[in-house]
Amino acid sequence: MTCLCELCPRRCRADRFREGGAPGWCGALDRPRVFRWGPHFGEEPPIVGERGSGCVFFSRCTMKCLYCQNSPWSWRGKGEDRTIAELTEIFRDLAVKDRVENWNLVSPTPYLPFIREAVKPLADEGIRLPFVWNSSGYERVETLEEYRDLCDWALFDLRYSDDRTSREASAAPGYVAASRAAVKWAWANAKTIVRILVLPGHADEAIENLAWLATEVSNEVPVSVMAQYTPAYMGLETPPFDRSVAEDEYESVTEAAADFGFENGWIQGFEASDPKLALLGENMGSDHGVVK
Ligand code: SF4
Repeated sequence: MTCLCELCPRRCRADRFREGGAPGWCGALDRPRVFRWGPHFGEEPPIVGERGSGCVFFSRCTMKCLYCQNSPWSWRGKGEDRTIAELTEIFRDLAVKDRVENWNLVSPTPYLPFIREAVKPLADEGIRLPFVWNSSGYERVETLEEYRDLCDWALFDLRYSDDRTSREASAAPGYVAASRAAVKWAWANAKTIVRILVLPGHADEAIENLAWLATEVSNEVPVSVMAQYTPAYMGLETPPFDRSVAEDEYESVTEAAADFGFENGWIQGFEASDPKLALLGENMGSDHGVVK
């Protein structure tokens, strides 16, 4: 196991993988910390399937988004430290009792070595589900390579196209290069869905990311365009993050997705009363055939 942590692009080199070690920038220590877990039906259709996605929400995060809706566990670490054996039982329950479609690792990066160790005994028993690596996109390709066995599906954000915004809003220097490299890696190595969360006042960055994706990767990448931004936490006092996305901002992004030729994927309804995902193009078919 790595001695000093360099799992995420921050590479803070915390000496955290031993008892009594120092927490990393993200707050992670020498045990996996889990906020909650269970079947989840709010992800994109191929991830949810019929029986739901087995989400494990890990505490802590490698970014600190001032508008984060999950701040109690992402910023403040709410959750419980688990032993590897306890984490094994969480994965077992999801697979055997809940019979979920996959193990959905939500913000797993600080805990990858522990996750791999936890699923080993299950694999020995023949219990294996696909893994969903569910992430802000702030990843290192070296880490993705090292843990590619935990990435059958990459469910990655492309959140910013300007590092000034990523630094100011998420304390994430180098986000643009890191997330784009991660998406390129994902498209070459895993089933991929790229989430485009439209942020108030930053629709232009969503459009720039769609343009980059279409020209530098492919417009066949399934994208999930999301209108669901809701002000939370410090975003409530930090314009423009203190408001919802305006309808015309959102439309500019969905129109750009169509103009760039994206046909695989989903568009979230704009109204909160209409949260369902509409298909972007005609290519989906009834089996949600977006997988590469
Ligand atoms: S995962 Fe956490 S501890 Fe590891 S490099 Fe990133 S911020 Fe530091």
